[in-house]
Amino acid sequence: MNTIEYRLPQERRRVTEFPGPRSAALAERRKAVVGAGVASTLPVYVADADGGVIVDVDGNSLIDLGAGIAVTSVGASNPTVVDAVREQVGHFTHTCFMIAPYEGYIEVAEKLAELTPGDHDKRSVLFNSGAEAVENAVKIARHATGRDAVVVFDHAYHGRTNLTMALTAKSMPYKSGFGPFAPEVYRVPMSYPFREGLNVDGSEISGAQAAARAISVIEKQIGADNVAALLIEPIQGEGGFIVPADGFLPALSAWARAHGVVFIADEVQTGFTRTGAWFASEHEGIVPDLITMAKGIAGGLPLAAVTGRAELIDAVHPGGLGGTYGGNPVACAAALASMEQMETLDLNGRARAIEDTVTSRLTALADEIDIIGEVRGRGAMLAVEFVLPGGGRAPDAEATKSIAALALQDGVVILTCGTYGNVIRLLPPLVISDALLDEALTVLENSIRIVAEEN
Ligand SMILES: *Cc1c(COP(=O)(O)O)cnc(C)c1O
Repeated sequence: MNTIEYRLPQERRRVTEFPGPRSAALAERRKAVVGAGVASTLPVYVADADGGVIVDVDGNSLIDLGAGIAVTSVGASNPTVVDAVREQVGHFTHTCFMIAPYEGYIEVAEKLAELTPGDHDKRSVLFNSGAEAVENAVKIARHATGRDAVVVFDHAYHGRTNLTMALTAKSMPYKSGFGPFAPEVYRVPMSYPFREGLNVDGSEISGAQAAARAISVIEKQIGADNVAALLIEPIQGEGGFIVPADGFLPALSAWARAHGVVFIADEVQTGFTRTGAWFASEHEGIVPDLITMAKGIAGGLPLAAVTGRAELIDAVHPGGLGGTYGGNPVACAAALASMEQMETLDLNGRARAIEDTVTSRLTALADEIDIIGEVRGRGAMLAVEFVLPGGGRAPDAEATKSIAALALQDGVVILTCGTYGNVIRLLPPLVISDALLDEALTVLENSIRIVAEEN
């Protein structure tokens, strides 16, 4: 691959306690003015970030295995992205595409038409956040079908706005106390291989069977004719990096097509080379009617998109979609540069190489550590699910929290997720060096060993 030039030393460096004095002072100031509802994983405050490292205000350098939740795949200060942003900022920061349009928006839409699955006629509309993209995909599906119901799945995460809270499964912390929620949202069972029961003959429940189970609920409880959209993350993110059984997504997609239901793939977390393909839908050979995108799209600038079938998106009257900032020109410039870097640096190949390194090390560890229930994921979207010792599958959220906290004390940023809070998720920037990734994995392995011995 064509290599990236790092601006900061790619090293783990601990010069103070966490938090150091400057971070501690910022934490105090924050408490006085920032709402308590916004929580932060790290106790330290960021001064700089580049490649695979985050440098804090006290001079500590941490290895980043979170990429700001799968956002900075090309790095947090990728030089090509930074140059593109500087260039655009020097011309204009905003005119509002709904008032005075510009080329960058069109170029992003052209690129999305090229990169998303399927060779049908496509349209795109740009927004600011993942939640906004999901809301708009639902608006489009309802408008195009004239139907109301939206089908979502157990463990789903689609955002924090009113409609997307309704679409999201987990109560704490996302929904509790924030109702009432938007109506006509129906939840059906997911395919979660690690937590499935078995067939009566002892065989595993296949993807096709899990899809039939979900479809039966839809047909009995909602009625196919009432369903505007079926919305699903091809690999669930916040819910626990759940990869459905093979065949689950194709069966749902085929059912949706047969019943005039819009199949929406929420690729906000999985998109843009994260899983070793441009979009995770490709792993299952499905072609969604609409795709929602955000996170990895623009190297850290806020941008989101809905891309999909022209006849669906163009069914909406002029003025029915949009927003003041949607497709901001600086964010569009960053997106174009990010997508160019994904191609030039072959980040799909890089994600697959990261998958090989991480899974071979962690599956080897799983053989000796019984609190590791499963190692799973695709590309550089990888997870370890932890269980109580003794060979069962009871989730162990406490151990998971301890492991992430220990790794952090040792200078590695690791995120958790999962309906049961028992999953560690690895989302490194795809430009992280092999040496730094290896070092971070050693820290993670040690943290897992320490917590497993205490259990
Ligand atoms: C993060 C996420 C969202 C919400 O995106 P925001 O930009 O935080 O609004 C929606 N869907 C999925 C799958 C996500 O991972």
